Amino acid sequence: MGACRCEDVSPRVDRFTPDGRTDRPVLGAVRGTAGTLVVDAGASPAHLAAFAAELTARGRPPVVAIALTHWHWDHSFGSAALDVPVIASEATAAGVAVQAGYAWDEASLRRRVDEGLELAFSLPHLLAEYSETERTGLEIVAPQVTFAERHAVDLGDVAVELVRVGGDHADDSVVAWVPDDRVLFLGDALYPCLWGDPEYLTVAGTRALLDRLAAFAPALALEGHDEDVADAAAYAARLAGLRRACDLVEAHGAGAPARVPADDEDLAELVGQLLAGEAR
Ligand SMILES: [Zn+2]
Repeated sequence: MGACRCEDVSPRVDRFTPDGRTDRPVLGAVRGTAGTLVVDAGASPAHLAAFAAELTARGRPPVVAIALTHWHWDHSFGSAALDVPVIASEATAAGVAVQAGYAWDEASLRRRVDEGLELAFSLPHLLAEYSETERTGLEIVAPQVTFAERHAVDLGDVAVELVRVGGDHADDSVVAWVPDDRVLFLGDALYPCLWGDPEYLTVAGTRALLDRLAAFAPALALEGHDEDVADAAAYAARLAGLRRACDLVEAHGAGAPARVPADDEDLAELVGQLLAGEAR
């Protein structure tokens, strides 16, 4: 973990690696003859500007639009760094609008944490990502192009498909699919809901998400806060783990953890999250 780095993902795709110190997620860039689409606006204008500078240094075509995977601050607050349209689902735009209506000084932020309107987890990250002046002066950009369930972005010789998949982490979650390179940006779609203590998944939400993701067969898949890019085998194993955890919780309920092999910590964690969700 450290400062974000720009890396090649595939012939048409770059990524900016995540930085857990301020919860900066992965950013993506897909380029075609008509320009570059950035996937997620990042945690702050400084975050997106740093990625844009790297893309320019690499000689990539000008950025023509930003697509958001969901409304969470770390994915949507950087848009003002670039004077291009922001594309998002209607649900994501609604979430961004709520955030835009808030004050972002530290006292207001702490009050919202106390009221349960902001995650305690996000507080130190928001305080570290921005100075007080930057945060209070932040322009949270309302998406100018919205869609209900799916939207295609034409980049000339390449298209990017934005598809709303939902899930427990954020009901508005959208994936960005690059069929030509078989690259799938998942945003945070596979992660648990953080608005609970403990964080949780539901069987119904996870199964519905897996059904929607069955439409894609990526060679490379990128999760919002994962250091590594998953190849097809790692992605298949990730989905299989979620499916198996659902199967175990449905079949055995509270007895599910006893069915998890002792060395499978990932499966144990998913089962725990699903049991937490089913108990709500
Ligand atoms: Zn998120």
